[in-house]
Amino acid sequence: MSFNLQEIRKDFPILDQSVNGRPWVYFDNAATAQRPRVVIEKMDEFSLLTNANIHRGTHAHAIRTTEAYEASRDRVKEFLHAENREEIIFTSGTTASINLVARSFSEKFLAEGDEIIVTEMEHHANIVPWQMACARQKAHLRVIPFSDAGDLQLELLEGLLSSRTKLIAVAHVSNTLGTINPVKEIIAKAHEQGIPVLIDGAQSVPHLAVDVQDLDCDFYVFSGHKIYGPTGIGVLYGKKVWLEAMPPFLGGGEMIDRVTFEKTTYNELPHKFEAGTPHYVGAIALGTAIDYLNRIGLEAAAKQEHELLVYATQRMKELGNVRIFGESANKTGVICFEIDEIHPFDLGTLLDQLGIAVRTGRLCADPVMDHFGVSAMTRASFSFYNSREEVDQFISALKRIRSMF
Ligand code: PLP
Repeated sequence: MSFNLQEIRKDFPILDQSVNGRPWVYFDNAATAQRPRVVIEKMDEFSLLTNANIHRGTHAHAIRTTEAYEASRDRVKEFLHAENREEIIFTSGTTASINLVARSFSEKFLAEGDEIIVTEMEHHANIVPWQMACARQKAHLRVIPFSDAGDLQLELLEGLLSSRTKLIAVAHVSNTLGTINPVKEIIAKAHEQGIPVLIDGAQSVPHLAVDVQDLDCDFYVFSGHKIYGPTGIGVLYGKKVWLEAMPPFLGGGEMIDRVTFEKTTYNELPHKFEAGTPHYVGAIALGTAIDYLNRIGLEAAAKQEHELLVYATQRMKELGNVRIFGESANKTGVICFEIDEIHPFDLGTLLDQLGIAVRTGRLCADPVMDHFGVSAMTRASFSFYNSREEVDQFISALKRIRSMF
């Protein structure tokens, strides 16, 4: 499909509206992406016309929902290029996926005195579950720092690795700095010492083609709502060998083989990790979102986002007295910044008055705030459906706000 921005924007009815009397500019895509009409229609279809719990019934609707749910698993398998469909577990999102691994993996493989390595640029979702696991098992968290430019100081990784290291958890793309981390290199280094690696793909799957077999990662996690799908649905990819060795996380229906009061045996993968009624409407619509993104083409999407990144960065720098946090040569369409030391909450509120939605605050990344010695940041993040004209509107708004201070 050729990239026609005007046509693409028609797929997103929400973008065509005014906020505070101005055309709405949505630059908060790293927090959640908007959904195309086909995804919304799929969710409607599986509420208005077809609904029954999955894996449980022999009637027509139960068969339809079950088949659609399992077909969606196949779509995710292809999207990540996983080897086996059993390696795709549906969860409620990235946070849930990481918590699942942190709880289940650590119960079996993390012992007193062991270590887990994360990076300084992680989202809280890829820090706190590991801290909790370390607290439970009396293990320790180690941290790979990043440079002021926003690149991981990988030369320090060697010194952190030891026989006590049990897992490395790292973001493929940082939600604050936008840095695309060299995860393949990290995985190769870790595997030399037999250490598994979990990749937090929340910010990468909307922008980069991911091939879990080529990366050779042990776990890969992402959220549906960041790739134009529904909220409340996400994915955990795990190599079969790990998922089979790990104990179940939640207990309940679907995850069991046979229950007696004396002993319960567990279901096979992937069901072993899908206890209870899942968000099957969300999972089905996630498959539709993946199809949609594939039709746009990840390469075309990334090209448009990169152009917006370069254009916006250049225009922001022309304004003067703008501090950009994270200027890696290898980054996605995310710009965290500060202008004239205007507090991000004031800036975000005033931008909203001018029709522009950005994210402000600590961005679920306190260590990144601490690194730069700030209490909060403002973040503009782009999607392929954004335009240069919207960047112009954003720059005019920044100029106007600056003149007010
Ligand atoms: N990891 C990263 C890098 C993120 O950007 C986010 C969300 O912003 C998360 C994890 C958590 O995702 P969710 O809230 O969808 O579970």
